[in-house]
Amino acid sequence: MDAIPYGRQSIDDGDVDAVVAALRSEYLTTGPRVAEFEAKIAARAQTPEAVAVINGTAALHAAYAAAGIGPGDEVIVPALTFAATATAALQLGAKVVFADVQEDTGNLEPTAAAAAVTSATRAVVGVDYAGHPVDAADLKEVASRQGAVFVEDAAHSIGSMLAGRAVGSLADLTTFSFFPTKNLTTGEGGAVVGADSELMKRVRAFREHGMVRNAASLRNPDVGPWHQEVQSLGLNYRLPDVLCALGSSQLDRLDLFKHARTKIFDRYVEELAGVEGLRVPTRRADASPMWHLFPLRVAAERRREVFEDLRGRGILVQVNYIPVYWHPLFEDLGYRKGMCPVAEQYYREEISLPMFAGLTDADQGRVIDAVLEAVK
Ligand SMILES: *Cc1c(COP(=O)(O)O)cnc(C)c1O
Repeated sequence: MDAIPYGRQSIDDGDVDAVVAALRSEYLTTGPRVAEFEAKIAARAQTPEAVAVINGTAALHAAYAAAGIGPGDEVIVPALTFAATATAALQLGAKVVFADVQEDTGNLEPTAAAAAVTSATRAVVGVDYAGHPVDAADLKEVASRQGAVFVEDAAHSIGSMLAGRAVGSLADLTTFSFFPTKNLTTGEGGAVVGADSELMKRVRAFREHGMVRNAASLRNPDVGPWHQEVQSLGLNYRLPDVLCALGSSQLDRLDLFKHARTKIFDRYVEELAGVEGLRVPTRRADASPMWHLFPLRVAAERRREVFEDLRGRGILVQVNYIPVYWHPLFEDLGYRKGMCPVAEQYYREEISLPMFAGLTDADQGRVIDAVLEAVK
């Protein structure tokens, strides 16, 4: 029997045709498929504009740069996330301040974020862990009281809603990742969305070397028609047309993907909730998550044994996430274990079960049977 991964892409013939059409077109990059993809993401995220970038890490880097984060600034980040949420701030010379998460959702706890605020706080970053939206209104309030930017790392949650509003419309800047295990994919890819046109202008500039071409914005407008100016520090973080074509095709199926993921989530809950030794994830009443992960929790003392048992049965479970400051990079910067006890305990108990749109009923049945065997 084949091994079952914890996550994987869903690619159909329409995706393949869209990529082939892009390959045969005039533009492999910087062409019309970029703007088309950006417009579709913006519509989906209920936000005026989107900037497509080469991956979710670049999206965070560009968002933080646009927020003006630099040396001397502090960025508040939850401990339970992928390292990039924090390291993108380190790239800009900022200090990362870790705050603890909620025991049920694994998301940044607004009161913990508020307690971490100082006069140097420049951004508060929430992560929609497993696809469940953060308490956006509270985090926005915490950030704006300090004049800081509220960033939502929505690498897990394109397609999720909170109180009837799409993820993407809840924060000052929201970042997405389109890595193959995420809710939709472009292979590598990401995007930044937001409603503040000044912030978004800076995101766009950061993606393109800080380069300005439009005559009205040039410092020296009379040099000649070839003239362009690098006006701010940026990088080349562009997402090519070939990948935007895949993204647009994938976005057309986002509702199907959400439906499939919801069904899988509901079946896991139905068959695993109430089983001795297991704890299934929580969904808050106002949230409509597009589930990226299914974070099952087991007793911390048994996590390794259950994990290895499942791997041995070909269920390629994962652990999301090692508390960021446990990584040697952060240890070497002076961070110590014990800082965020809720996130640490969450990590000690967590096992991510297979969760992807193409998971078949039969394979999900295999996963469930294996889990029930493993926790006996
Ligand atoms: C995947 C992920 C990222 C980084 O995205 P990439 O596209 O892999 O660079 C950032 N934050 C979180 C929470 C993620 O899961």
